[in-house]
Amino acid sequence: MVEALPGDRIHAFPGGLKLRHHKAVACEHPVKRPALPDRLYIQILQHQGESGELLVTDGDRVRAGQALTSAGDDFIVPEHAPTSGTIETITDHPAAFPPGGTQRAIVLVPDGRDEWVECRPVADWHNASPGTLIDHLHQSGLAGMGGAMFPTAAKLRGDWPQLRTVILNGAECEPWIACDEMLMRERAQDVIEGGLILARAAGAERVVIAIEDRMGVVDDRLRAARQALGAEDSVRIRKVFTVYPEGGERQLIQALTGREVPHDGLPQDLGVVVHNVATAAAARDAVLEGRPLIERIVTVTGPGIAQPRNFLTLIGTPFSHLVDSAGGYAEPVSRLILGGPMSGTALASDAIPVTKGSNCILALTERETAPTQPTMPCINCGECVRVCPARLLPQTLFRLIEAENLDAAADYDLSDCIECGCCAAVCPSHIPLVDYYRHGKDELVRRRLDRRRAALAKRRYEAREERLARQKAERQARRKAREEKLKRPEKAQDEIQAAIERAKQNKKT
Ligand code: SF4
Ligand code: SF4
Repeated sequence: MVEALPGDRIHAFPGGLKLRHHKAVACEHPVKRPALPDRLYIQILQHQGESGELLVTDGDRVRAGQALTSAGDDFIVPEHAPTSGTIETITDHPAAFPPGGTQRAIVLVPDGRDEWVECRPVADWHNASPGTLIDHLHQSGLAGMGGAMFPTAAKLRGDWPQLRTVILNGAECEPWIACDEMLMRERAQDVIEGGLILARAAGAERVVIAIEDRMGVVDDRLRAARQALGAEDSVRIRKVFTVYPEGGERQLIQALTGREVPHDGLPQDLGVVVHNVATAAAARDAVLEGRPLIERIVTVTGPGIAQPRNFLTLIGTPFSHLVDSAGGYAEPVSRLILGGPMSGTALASDAIPVTKGSNCILALTERETAPTQPTMPCINCGECVRVCPARLLPQTLFRLIEAENLDAAADYDLSDCIECGCCAAVCPSHIPLVDYYRHGKDELVRRRLDRRRAALAKRRYEAREERLARQKAERQARRKAREEKLKRPEKAQDEIQAAIERAKQNKKT
């Protein structure tokens, strides 16, 4: 039953799909820590923003929790050593983003001793200033763990006079992912404490934890933990309908408040800020224990996995190691996905390492992926419009992108597409609509960058022309001055000659 709160009710958002869930298979066993892998590949950029400066080099010995890259402004989040060992090298390594590409990674060979640097918790966080808490979370390497990897400090900082509520997003709506559900089951109290810390850092009054109405066990454990902490007044637990993509930030806010985040606005404009429940638990670990973000729960599941389950995994662990820890591949895998089947990314390799935002590895077999129907022309049925939670016109966007008319697609709010995949899932013509939107968005970003580069090059060219003209004018002025100077002795000579002539004339007279 949806929790009744004075003046509060759960709202519907437009579109969406009811999907069959397959989470139980990975939730049968408690979260387990896998064996230590031979090598960890720690990507130096794991968040939206830029990477910090490297603080280590080949051959360095490091301890767990040691910063490997430096922190900068809120968009430069540091990375930390997940365990003790030796830096073997720093190299390009397969990565999930860009698809099929590589990222710079620090290769750490663990020594098995797990020696830690000294952990520095925040003393008396209840009375610490928001700025102190935000700086501490930033130095602890926190970035959103729900998949978007937005730097946590950047989300918290800011003068939002009407910010009242921190929403913890536990509505895990993709049908196979279960890492947040297991986290809330096993660490309910830590999630709540983390939420209270985030609320203090953001200057908010209360925490709302949003879970799906099918999460009965989670609901019980959160309520018991809230009672144990005596936090009934400041923490609310709200069940939202199990509809995909309920876990999308904008959809969740609409479900909880009945209000839409403005097209060009932010959740803070409505007085709320949303963090993933795993980010909240990591905030608790950073503040109460002084432990930076070095591990997360990853769901390893799908019909292609022998023993699906959830692992508490060190950042940098190769996916292949997790698959081995889950009993290996059960049968030939035809598609490996990071995330869920609706919005996840197909992986080119299982050598890719776990990052702060890696929530699930899903292995699908021929059975789930085989009947790839041929793509047919759009029949204008309008099904895609009906299910789009962002109120877009998917078929129009598709046609515009197909015609490479990207400026028009931008005018039709292509950037508002959350790539949820609802439209593609219902399209009777089997058009891979999301691929078009991703291509369109990438192309728009590329064009914007090209335009910025061209403008920069033009400014540089104009500045160079100006500089050359100025130097030429200066050269001419200098030459003229020199000539003037050289002319002066002749002038003096002429004057002397004139004086001699005048003297001669005087003598004659
Ligand atoms: S992928 Fe984009 S266009 Fe398609 S339903 Fe989702 S938000 Fe709408
Ligand atoms: S669902 Fe597919 S066929 Fe129907 S209008 Fe949308 S793009 Fe066209």
